[in-house]
Amino acid sequence: MKNKNNSIPLKRYTIRVWVVPIFILSILLSIFIYNKTKKIIYQNIYNNISELSEQSVVQLNQSINNQIQFVETMADSINKGYFKTTESVFHNFSDNLGDYKFSRLAIIDENGNGITNDGHIITNYENVEEFFEHDGVYLSENRPSLISDEQVNIYSQKCYIDNQEKILCAIIETNNYKSILTRRLYNGKAGTYLINNNGTVLIDSFGDITQNNVNLYAYIRNSYNLNLSQLSKVNKMAIDVKNNQNGAFYITSNRHTYFFTYQKIGINNWYAITLASDETIAKELIEFLFVFLTSSIILNAIIIAACISIDISHQNKNRKLFRTAFIDPVTNLGNLQYFRENGKLYLENQKGTKYVVSIDINKFKALNNIYGYEFCNKLLKSLGNIIGNVIGENCLVCRLYSDVFAVIFKYNKDIDLLLNKIADEASIINIDDTIIKLNLSMGVYKIQKNDTNIDNILSKVYMSRSKIKGQVEKLYYIYDETLENELLEEQEIESNMKSALENNEFKIYYQPKFYSENKQLAGAEALVRWYKDDNMIPPNKFIPLFEKNKFIIKLDKYIFEQVCKDMASWKEKYGYAPKVSINVSKEHFVNPNFIDEYVKITKKYNIDTSNIDLEITESATVDKQINILEIMNKIKELGFTISIDDFGTGYSSLSMLQSMPIDIIKIDKIFVDKIDFNSDKNIINHIMFISKQLELQTIVEGVETEEQFEYIKNIGGNIIQGYYFSKPISKDDFENYL
Ligand code: C2E
Ligand code: CA
Ligand code: CA
Repeated sequence: MKNKNNSIPLKRYTIRVWVVPIFILSILLSIFIYNKTKKIIYQNIYNNISELSEQSVVQLNQSINNQIQFVETMADSINKGYFKTTESVFHNFSDNLGDYKFSRLAIIDENGNGITNDGHIITNYENVEEFFEHDGVYLSENRPSLISDEQVNIYSQKCYIDNQEKILCAIIETNNYKSILTRRLYNGKAGTYLINNNGTVLIDSFGDITQNNVNLYAYIRNSYNLNLSQLSKVNKMAIDVKNNQNGAFYITSNRHTYFFTYQKIGINNWYAITLASDETIAKELIEFLFVFLTSSIILNAIIIAACISIDISHQNKNRKLFRTAFIDPVTNLGNLQYFRENGKLYLENQKGTKYVVSIDINKFKALNNIYGYEFCNKLLKSLGNIIGNVIGENCLVCRLYSDVFAVIFKYNKDIDLLLNKIADEASIINIDDTIIKLNLSMGVYKIQKNDTNIDNILSKVYMSRSKIKGQVEKLYYIYDETLENELLEEQEIESNMKSALENNEFKIYYQPKFYSENKQLAGAEALVRWYKDDNMIPPNKFIPLFEKNKFIIKLDKYIFEQVCKDMASWKEKYGYAPKVSINVSKEHFVNPNFIDEYVKITKKYNIDTSNIDLEITESATVDKQINILEIMNKIKELGFTISIDDFGTGYSSLSMLQSMPIDIIKIDKIFVDKIDFNSDKNIINHIMFISKQLELQTIVEGVETEEQFEYIKNIGGNIIQGYYFSKPISKDDFENYL
């Protein structure tokens, strides 16, 4: 609920959970698109290579077949007897050799001796039996030329020449095949190996393989860094070639993909193996794809980062809102709203005995005036800390408003000790090397089982506190049922007061005042009584409440008018009316013009204002919010006299009253009660003495006994009001005195 220094912790920044899956999802999508596109491209490459390979194979096949046919034609015409000698054969066919890319003809006998059409003599040609084994045209694998450094292939057929069986050979340079096989694909190179069915490379259109009798499978295995599954693809090719099957596959090595197709060319079980790498054929596309993938990842990252930053700024805004809505900037504690919400949670979640205490500082306004705003803010902060520290961990301290704090906490020991400790610590607060002694008032409420409504609880602690508010000697008040009853009573009174006024339930009683000298009537004080259903409610039950809720303004005016009415009736009946004192609550004084309405009423009943005395309590004269002088002057100007009521109970002094336009002071009953008849040093004697000096009249209130009466008479109290003469009585009873 709170941290070490009681201030409200802010929520941590959170990264929303959706960010992660969305990020992963979009990366996966990019990878998916990347792979899908790559697959399409690869399929395309496959198709292209296959096509290319097929074209090469067809061309090679065609060109070899043409060459075979040429040799067949030669052999045919020789065997039919058109050309019988070596010389005639050479003579007849030498000119056509170029058309078929042959470099020369040779005729060799079974001993390997012979001659070429361009005059080279051949002796003991190796492996000549190989040529005699075949009946039709035979095409040899490449072998070194006897005449040049080139490799050659030999087309041969047995023929009768010079009356013996010889071999007619047409010789072609192997390089001639290369030109057919070499092809370009896209921007890069693709090429073909021509192999026999053992895998021996006959022709390498790339030109990479320079040695003879290289096995292509072994070459592939050595050239590429292959894993097991790729090795098995190569092995499968070897088997397929053995079994006259065509096929295709690809392998990936060193971050490149190599596409292979193998196709038999239909001659001598030879195979054309076409090879192309993605690097050469689809470099740009693959590069583009890679750029796509990386940029989409980067873009994703940027978008996610933007989302997070927007989110954080959003959270920041929320924090600010939270701060302004829930946190008191002066103390860093929660405010009323915060207390409401978190107090409720506290009630719900914390088990055990719990209390809510509201704490406020007596006379904080005065402190504010003396020390200034900034200083008092520090004071508030420091009080907040004291409350939190004394109560300890796991309490919720808030400043609800101005100097009012509330704290909710768990506690199962003596609550008095705890509250006293808070008060003790608050009585020595050091702010900027100034020691301040705070007086606190606390309202305490012990949480009951079914308490869930914080506002109700707060109103209970306020109620408890207001019970002792202003009483310096009382530190706290713990809520009890009587308080509740009082409140209920107050509520009842509040709900009835308006109708009471309309129904004339408020009656006026007059308490007569007498001259001590001759016990003649000196006047009367009008005192209100509330008769409700034949029960009399005494004024101390409702006047304080009406002062709080301002209804007193209406009531006083009503009483004033009733008194004027009574006075008018007495004037008529008895030819005169005695002077009447009427109580005026200080609540009127917020509006200095209130008196104008009173004057209007006196005019209505034709009462002389000088025949009315207005009683203003002493406490009104020390209230700083009231410009009492202005009001009193106005009252005086209009002809009323002014009495200071309950003199001696407030904080004013006689010298203070000296500056005010007052006529009478009413000495409060407590001074009469305190009279020690054996002494002449009673306070009342001093008051009487000084008021005489100030030329003020005095009325002594609450005189009940003969003894008191005599004493006061002796010290010069000339007007007396008290039960000794009469209690407040009804109008009719009062008329007996007239
Ligand atoms: P207060 O103005 O000081 O009125 C005098 C109170 O002292 C009256 O009480 C009166 O009955 C009582 N009292 C007078 N002599 C004696 C005595 O010898 N012994 C004792 N024990 N009491 C005596 P009450 O009528 O109950 O009035 C209480 C207070 O209510 C008044 O005190 C006054 O402050 C207020 N109040 C009464 N009527 C009005 C009103 O119309 N307007 C306003 N604003 N306040 C009123
Ligand atoms: Ca009075
Ligand atoms: Ca009084």
